[in-house]
Amino acid sequence: MFNRDTASKSLWQGTAETYKTVNTADPQTVYDVVIVGGGIAGVSIGVALQKKGKNCLILEAESLCYGTTGGTTAHINTLLDTPYSTIESKFSQKAAHTVADAAKDALALIKNNIKEYQIDCAFSDAEAYLFAQDEKQEKELDEIFQASESAGLTLRYTDSIDVPIGFRKALIVEGQGKFHPVKYVHGLASAFESLGGVIVEHSRVVNVEDGEPVVVETDRYKYKGSSLIYATHIPPGINLLHMRCGANRSYAMAVTLSDDKYPTRLSYDMYDPYHYYRTQEWKGKKYLIVGGEDHKTGDHPNTDENFLALESHVKTHFKINSIDYKWSSQYFEPADGLPYIGQLPGHSDHIFVATGFGGNGMTFSTVASIIFSKWLGDNLIPYDNLFNPNRIKPIAGFVSFLSNNATVIQNFFGKLIPSEKLSVLSGIAQGEGEIVKFEGQKIALYRNDLGKLFALNPTCTHMKCDVKWNQTERSWDCPCHGARYSPEGKVLTGPADHGLTVIDLETIMEQSK
Ligand SMILES: Cc1cc2nc3c(=O)[nH]c(=O)nc-3n(C[C@H](O)[C@H](O)[C@H](O)COP(=O)(O)OP(=O)(O)OC[C@H]3O[C@@H](n4cnc5c(N)ncnc54)[C@H](O)[C@@H]3O)c2cc1C
Repeated sequence: MFNRDTASKSLWQGTAETYKTVNTADPQTVYDVVIVGGGIAGVSIGVALQKKGKNCLILEAESLCYGTTGGTTAHINTLLDTPYSTIESKFSQKAAHTVADAAKDALALIKNNIKEYQIDCAFSDAEAYLFAQDEKQEKELDEIFQASESAGLTLRYTDSIDVPIGFRKALIVEGQGKFHPVKYVHGLASAFESLGGVIVEHSRVVNVEDGEPVVVETDRYKYKGSSLIYATHIPPGINLLHMRCGANRSYAMAVTLSDDKYPTRLSYDMYDPYHYYRTQEWKGKKYLIVGGEDHKTGDHPNTDENFLALESHVKTHFKINSIDYKWSSQYFEPADGLPYIGQLPGHSDHIFVATGFGGNGMTFSTVASIIFSKWLGDNLIPYDNLFNPNRIKPIAGFVSFLSNNATVIQNFFGKLIPSEKLSVLSGIAQGEGEIVKFEGQKIALYRNDLGKLFALNPTCTHMKCDVKWNQTERSWDCPCHGARYSPEGKVLTGPADHGLTVIDLETIMEQSK
């Protein structure tokens, strides 16, 4: 089993081994492209560029699929979370068509990669249902239908769906897919190495000197590249894109059914947040995967309740035999609904980024691989440069940009947790964390399963917000830009690139005497 940036275990972790790298890196070589991050984005981009004759190095802080790719649910969609009706109104009808074309190209490329590199990842084509359960959703469904059809998707209304949930109106869309995401990424990684690419795991990039060449410092060695691409889900350091991407957490379960009535298609309801359903078969065993209960990172004090709500939802509609996996993971929602793929704002023209995939990272990471292979391989920017991270859309995204930042400002200056007494220090149960105030100092306190206390400065090292405890994943999560830390303060998820400061409890006790 490979590790993930969370305590909960995903279906993919239970059914895939750790990837073993083959090639070794050379700190003296100037690589054509250094790719930071070994999730689906980094590895897809790596293969596409290596195939174009570029010499690439992938640097991964932990191991491949340690991030959200190991905790996804792997629907491959052209019907996207940002409805084409929204893309039409925020951008244009032509833009909606271009996005649909990009999504279709991504699905075709995934299928081609699987065939060309003979990747055993249980891919199958699938149709998808979107179903409305009240009048308002019905109206929205009609708008989505029209805009999706004019964007070029093939869809129709249907009288039946294959999940046992009541609905008023539903559409069915062709040309979607599903697979085992980690097996796919591992297959791509192997192809990348066969093409001469190099993967270095357990090497966190801690500093980048933006020159010619770009010098990339990890916690172990320094490497050089003519270009650098951040495929870290969200770029590290401080960047404009952190103001344009909201961090969210989503919950998923893989269950077996006692009546064997596994849906064959993908399904989505239309609540906000919505539920998503699909079946995955792996080595002769079927699992129903259900996801939902999303919220902004750090917004829910008791994350276990989200699992309970999801479980109750699943039990209401399906005959459960066993709950085999429950997991949660984080994604980044772009302010105007489209991802940011291209040159990283505020940096030179050989530093790039692929971020803001929302709930469509399988599709958009593959779109990123198409964009970078054309950009760096052929000097062409495809899809009308629509995904340009430097796009200025003061109207599109303005509302969510403001509301995201309202939360940020509140967390900068507000007091998150009321003052606590010293007794709280000893009142925390094993396996729990809490922000306590002791002698005027805020402390992020965690007691491990053996009863040992760990104390940290709760100020996120990224942009100085206070972290919050995530009970389900046993991590300190920053509500502002999604940085996450282990109970002991180690970085689990960027954009932070340094851990939380460890506080010596003894010292504080002595100071307070
Ligand atoms: C519960 C859930 C369900 C989802 N379901 C779907 C779905 O059905 N379909 C879909 O299309 N999308 C889905 N998504 C979104 C999708 O999973 C993500 O968009 C996608 O996995 C992101 O891939 P990535 O490679 O960009 O990031 P990650 O997979 O997070 O990879 C980034 C990697 O970069 C590494 N890294 C970070 N910082 C550094 C550093 N400084 N140095 C070196 N390495 C670093 C990390 O360790 C990590 O391995 C879902 C998301 C969630 C949370």
